[in-house]
Amino acid sequence: MQLNITVLPGDGIGPEVTSEALRVLNAVAGKFEHQVRVNQKLIGGSAVVRTGNPLPDDTVQTCLSSNAVLLGAVGDPSFDRLPVDLRPERGLLRLRQALGAFANLRPATCFAPLLQSSPLREEIIRGTDILIVRELLGGLYFGEPRSTSGSAPNRSAIDTMHYREPDIERIATVAFKLAQARSRRVTSVDKANVLDCSRLWRDVVTRIGKHYPDIELHHMYVDSAAMALVSRPSQFDVLLTENMFGDILSDQAGAVVGSIGILPSASLGGPVGLYEPVHGSAPDIAGKGTANPIGAILSIAMMFRHSFELEEEAVTVESAVLAVLNKGYRTEDISTVGRFPIQCAEMGRRIAESISHAEIRTGQLT
Ligand code: NAD
Repeated sequence: MQLNITVLPGDGIGPEVTSEALRVLNAVAGKFEHQVRVNQKLIGGSAVVRTGNPLPDDTVQTCLSSNAVLLGAVGDPSFDRLPVDLRPERGLLRLRQALGAFANLRPATCFAPLLQSSPLREEIIRGTDILIVRELLGGLYFGEPRSTSGSAPNRSAIDTMHYREPDIERIATVAFKLAQARSRRVTSVDKANVLDCSRLWRDVVTRIGKHYPDIELHHMYVDSAAMALVSRPSQFDVLLTENMFGDILSDQAGAVVGSIGILPSASLGGPVGLYEPVHGSAPDIAGKGTANPIGAILSIAMMFRHSFELEEEAVTVESAVLAVLNKGYRTEDISTVGRFPIQCAEMGRRIAESISHAEIRTGQLT
């Protein structure tokens, strides 16, 4: 198969982790005899520096004419003072919008070899296998009006949370369908005791849920969900959320399973899928070579599965990650006392070698 991929390394650790993800992509392509064509483009702070725009038109056009997009991360504190529409994060939001990517899938799986990397006790996290299905194009991140007015010390600011029924219907449908291939449980997260948007969310999700009698549906307030995520994470199967709640809960889920550095994501719904690790640009470790590339690498597995429907290739990537973790290799974020951590590039190389040397067999992820 010919795989035309746009790569947007972005800022901070983005270039470090995407380059390891590409190494793994090429190893899989070599093993299964696919041809990869990569087009690298600008986004985020690096695009602001070079073009004055966090999402140049050329980037959008190239993404739309490819089969899939791999993104690293955007953002850097040095851009914090720019007007909001010029900030790196705005480039990412606009890209998600341009790609029509309304469904953000964020799996958070507790890998057996990483049981000790979690800050939580083993018996709490064992068996945790959550799929967060986050609505990506609505809510507070896109609602209008949005502004800051006045001058210090009397400024005021407005953000708008806005959801329309069809926005909720389509993401709920994605969650129920995905649950059918898993443990058939959906927990829908809202704040229906306070927010109108959440009451609408709960109503619509309940209505859609009636079309899926084989799925057990629970509703949970977001504060309660945050608590349950650390006290009983293995109770969750599919966690359905609006945009901001999903953003927050998925970072928390990352810590639960060991590190945000291992969480991948797929943003689907439009003509071209967008794949990116859940983490941000991590300016605190950028350039040190210590970033964990596993989130970006597992995003490649999601790309094979969702954009190319190449399940064996997807499982090959996941099995290679597990094989390397099983051998005891750890980056700093998931390292435990007494282990000497390896660098980002070595982790990527070991996972790619594991694929090329055919030493892994496809199998269970956990
Ligand atoms: P972050 O995810 O970048 O970092 C949070 C913490 O996790 C940091 O301590 C970081 O060192 C650590 N971390 C993150 N990824 C890691 C990895 N792969 N390996 C090891 N450790 C890792 O979140 P933040 O610090 O809140 O945000 C930093 C910047 O990233 C901000 O500009 C923010 O707006 C941006 N951001 C971008 C995205 C994205 O591009 N999708 C997502 C979140 C935040």
